[in-house]
Amino acid sequence: MAQLLDGKAVSKILKEEIREEIATWKEKGVQPKLAVILVGDDPASVVYARSKQKVCEGIGMAFELFTMPSATPEAEILATIEKLNNDQNVHGIMIELPLPKGIRKETVMAAVRPDKDVDGVHPINRGYILSGEEGLFPATPQSCIELLLRSGVEIAGKHVVIVGRGETVGKPLVFLILKHNATVTICHSKTPDLGAFTRQADILIAAVGRAKLIKKEMVKAGAIVVDAGINEIPGGICGDVDFEAVQDVAELISPVPGGVGSLTTALIMRNVLKGIVLQGGVR
Ligand code: NAP
Repeated sequence: MAQLLDGKAVSKILKEEIREEIATWKEKGVQPKLAVILVGDDPASVVYARSKQKVCEGIGMAFELFTMPSATPEAEILATIEKLNNDQNVHGIMIELPLPKGIRKETVMAAVRPDKDVDGVHPINRGYILSGEEGLFPATPQSCIELLLRSGVEIAGKHVVIVGRGETVGKPLVFLILKHNATVTICHSKTPDLGAFTRQADILIAAVGRAKLIKKEMVKAGAIVVDAGINEIPGGICGDVDFEAVQDVAELISPVPGGVGSLTTALIMRNVLKGIVLQGGVR
C-alpha cells in the first residue's frame, strides 16, 4: 500500500517558512503585500480570493481586494493594474479568473508587471521558464515539485511522465522538472496508448482534468504518483488518478483533496516574497 504525499503537512511547513521570511522583511521596514483583483461575481473566484485573504492574515502578509462589477470596462481594469504596478507598497498582483465575457484575458494578464505577476502568467515569465532564468512561475507546477522534494523524493535522473500539456500545469511543469535533471515525457489527448507511456514512469504526474483517468494497470509497481487534477464529482472532488486502485501499486501517491492543491496558496505567497527581491528589495 502506497504512502501518502501529504500536501497539508508540506503546506504547514511552507507557511511557517513564509511567516518567518515576512517577519524578516518587516524588520527591514518592508510589509509584503498581495493585491487581488476580482471582476464580477463568479462564486468560486470569490471563495478563492477570500481564502487568500485568510492565509495572508495568518502569515502576516498585507492583503487588499479590489472588487469590480462584471460590466467594468477593460480600460478601467487596466488602469487599476497600472496603479498597482506603480505602487511600491504592493509586491504581488493577482487577477482572479475567469474574467467576464468581453474582457481580453491575455491583455489583462500582460498588463501586470512581470516582477509582480505572482500567478506566473505574463509572457515574460513564461519565457523565463523556457530559458531557465529567474522569474515568477505558476503555483500548481511548483506545488508538484515541492510535494516531491519535501517528501524526500529524488527527481534527478528519474523518468518523469507528465499527462497533460495545459498552459497552467503540464506545460510549465515540463521545464521546471527538466531544471531538476529528470528525463521528461509529456502525453496529451492525442497520445495513442497512454498506458504504454505512463507504465514507464518512475514519477507519474497527472494534470488532465478527467476524473480517475489513470488506472492501476497504467502505473508501474513502485512508481511515485502525483495527482494535480481537480474534478467535481457528486459529493465532492477527485483527481485524475483512480486513487483507491492505484495506491495498491504505487510507492507514494498524492491524494485529492489534500495533495497538490493544498500547497498552491502558500506558493503564491512565496511568489510575493520572490517578487520583492526581483523588484530590487535586499534580502
Ligand atoms: P487544460 O489546460 O484543460 O489541459 C488538459 C490537458 O489534458 C491537455 O493537454 C489535454 O490534451 C490533456 N488531456 C485531456 N484528455 C486527455 C486524455 N484522455 N488523455 C490524455 N491527455 C488528456 O488543464 P489545466 O488547466 O492544465 O489543468 C489540468 C488539471 O489540473 C485540471 O484538473 C485542473 O482542475 C487542475 N488544476 C489544479 C490546480 C491545483 O491547485 N491543484 C490548479 C490548476 C489546475 P490536449 O492538449 O491534447 O487537449
